[in-house]
Amino acid sequence: MKKTRKVILIAMSGVRVVNERLFNTGLTLPGFVDRSKVIASLPSLGLLTLAAHTPEHWEVVYKELDTYSENDVAELLAEKPDIIAFSALTARIYETYELSARFRKKGITVVIGGLHASSLPNEVQEHADAVIQGEGEIIWGKLLEDYERNMLKPVYSSLSNPAYVFDLKDARVPKYELLDIDKYNRLTIQTTRGCPYHCNFCAASRTISSYKKKPIELIKKELDKIFEIWEEPFIELADDNTFVDKKWSKELLKLFGTYNMKWFTETDITIAEDEELLSLLAASNCMQVLIGLESVNSESVKSVDDGWKYTHFDDYEKAIDKIQSFGITVNGCFVLGFDSDTKETFRETQEYIKTSNLSDVQITLLTPFPCTDLYNQLKQEGRLLKDYWDKCTLFDVTYVPKNFTVEELENEFQDLMTNVYAEDLVERRRSILKETLSKRNKLVTL
Ligand code: SF4
Repeated sequence: MKKTRKVILIAMSGVRVVNERLFNTGLTLPGFVDRSKVIASLPSLGLLTLAAHTPEHWEVVYKELDTYSENDVAELLAEKPDIIAFSALTARIYETYELSARFRKKGITVVIGGLHASSLPNEVQEHADAVIQGEGEIIWGKLLEDYERNMLKPVYSSLSNPAYVFDLKDARVPKYELLDIDKYNRLTIQTTRGCPYHCNFCAASRTISSYKKKPIELIKKELDKIFEIWEEPFIELADDNTFVDKKWSKELLKLFGTYNMKWFTETDITIAEDEELLSLLAASNCMQVLIGLESVNSESVKSVDDGWKYTHFDDYEKAIDKIQSFGITVNGCFVLGFDSDTKETFRETQEYIKTSNLSDVQITLLTPFPCTDLYNQLKQEGRLLKDYWDKCTLFDVTYVPKNFTVEELENEFQDLMTNVYAEDLVERRRSILKETLSKRNKLVTL
């Protein structure tokens, strides 16, 4: 079909650290840089999905702007698009506003969606011709139709309009073919959306959509498509918490087991309670699960979720050992800066990480993303720093801490990073990782 319109989809991707000292420290830390590189090089599944929902007569260009230069802007303008649509996280929203103003000045219609736009559509509306709040699949077709009829609305929302809520049984295969595939070391698929739990800092669990699962036969179609373009892919699931529904998860894992691929996902500690699930995980070649342990301080875990998460606090070590005994490596995530955290919490975290059997670790600072319970609480207490969106990197301080000054918290975090990602500790975790993966081979041989 003849293309009569053009849209450029831009992912404002990449990890940023505003604090220069911390940024420079991070650049020298091997374990930290490895994971950052992986995250930075993941394609935007949301935009590839929108591309699949774009009518045939629209030409679609996909672009990632980790950083951008005047040359990039000139190249984008030279494409002469009708619409430029951004997907932007909070940390890159100011840059998105800046680019949007430049493109709108040139008469290009700008649309902004993603987590920040879904949290604060009124703010984003000031900087765009249209905002997508929530799920984009149904909205996107409607928005393009409205554009062509010169009837574009300022906000399209699946959170306030049930007609725009998407049923994953209608999911289309993302347009992976738009990617310059050699640039990537992993591709993403989404098997679940949202999370049914309500951790107080979590922006992922309900900002875009309520918790839902994709039908297994559609996930198969996505994997088949990936295998058409990549022989032995590494898949990263773009899920918030994959194995909430254990029965459905087992069907998913049986499907994964039929493909020759390595893969990674995020989940919660309860998988340790299900040996059948762990066996299927190992058999399907899951290399690593990332689990939010949140803190070594039980009061801090309680402040995140005083229900199921808190009740599992005492089981961490047993659970990590159990999961890893099946040959699946665990990447444990810790958040620092809770109101109940003190300098002692930093020391204890360091000690825990130093002596635990974790194959990998991730440490981040508590961050009040807009519209989370944490954000509402800190806002009410007048503790949010001014204009901090660009600091929502997970590595910058964004609020007035309780037991530290801002500078003290920054320094404690920097010290912890330096210690946790020191060469000897990274090496220790690498050997645990290798040993864990070798258990799987032994299990399969037996
Ligand atoms: S379990 Fe994970 S994904 Fe679910 S609400 Fe908590 S932090 Fe968010």
